[in-house]
Amino acid sequence: ASFDVPQTHRAIVAEQTGGPEVLQWTEAPVPAPGPGQALVRTAAAGLNFIETYQRSGVYPVDMPFVPGTEGSGTVVAVGADVDSVAVGDRVMTAAGVGTYAEHFLAPAEQLLPAPGSLDLAEAAALPLQGLTAHYLSRSTFPVQAGQTVVVTAGAGGVGLLLTQLCRARGARVVTTASTEAKRELSLQAGATVSVDYPDVQAAVEELTGDEGADVVYDGVGKATFEDSLACLRVRGMLVLFGGASGQVPPFDLQRLNGAGGLFVTRPSLVHYTRTPQETHWRAQELAEAVADGSLTLRIGERFALSDAAAAHTALEGRQTTGKVLLTLD
Ligand code: NDP
Repeated sequence: ASFDVPQTHRAIVAEQTGGPEVLQWTEAPVPAPGPGQALVRTAAAGLNFIETYQRSGVYPVDMPFVPGTEGSGTVVAVGADVDSVAVGDRVMTAAGVGTYAEHFLAPAEQLLPAPGSLDLAEAAALPLQGLTAHYLSRSTFPVQAGQTVVVTAGAGGVGLLLTQLCRARGARVVTTASTEAKRELSLQAGATVSVDYPDVQAAVEELTGDEGADVVYDGVGKATFEDSLACLRVRGMLVLFGGASGQVPPFDLQRLNGAGGLFVTRPSLVHYTRTPQETHWRAQELAEAVADGSLTLRIGERFALSDAAAAHTALEGRQTTGKVLLTLD
């Protein structure tokens, strides 16, 4: 197969940090794949919270900046020394460079085969939040049958996937979500109980006979951190994996002693996709779960990529559920 690759394309570019309005749909050069890289024609980009941190300056990036690490599409060109993918392959990745564009680059070894059971745009819904849910439940704290797990933002992108993976491992899952409709969605994904944020500790105590949860997966951060600690049993683990409500302020380690010999960790996906082998192992398990129906992707909303600013406003405004896709055409 061979494809004509244009010199320029359209992309979302931020010239400076700020609100969603800094995301402008503009003409930009199509990047050329360097050694070990592939160029992908985008089918869809996945929206992730990290792009809002980068846009607003919480995570510093060099400007001008084309956001996006997650996407799916067709390989249209490869650089030197690439043999893991070929032109024409249908791929998805959580390690793309600037996926908010009509074409994006990625390290060829971090391109994953798009599952045959999904259409190519839908495949952009899986890798970043899927790999995250996988490493959190398999590796950071390997969930076992009979354990009690708390998942914050249970109707969110990571939340719905993580809930399903923990249930598949035989755990009981308590989720939090801010509206009745979101709690209903979370229950459909397999949550044992789903409550509003202030009620989480009582729900855990009721389910565990005052023992507490084995693990709390907290991606909300600043607003939930104290309650998450309070939900844990002796020797329980708090996995702080994000800060949708803001970053957690500095913390006195001695409190972990007083609260029962607790563990706290703050992981990122890069720590759990360190080699192509590790990434492919996780992706393979996810693709199998999607194919056999044990893992359902919920695409809550699709925005045109040119409308990325509106998608950011919705995500930051707690208006979304499940995965948000940024699509072309
Ligand atoms: P979500 O789809 O979960 O959206 C965020 C959700 O957080 C909202 O829908 C909302 O649900 C909840 N929330 C609570 N408080 C706030 C607030 N003040 N402002 C906005 N949202 C709030 O997003 P993602 O699935 O993309 O990401 C979830 C978290 O996981 C993020 O913190 C993200 O940074 C993190 N993450 C971490 C990774 C890692 O490897 N460490 C990788 C991927 C994601 P509700 O209305 O129900 O409260």
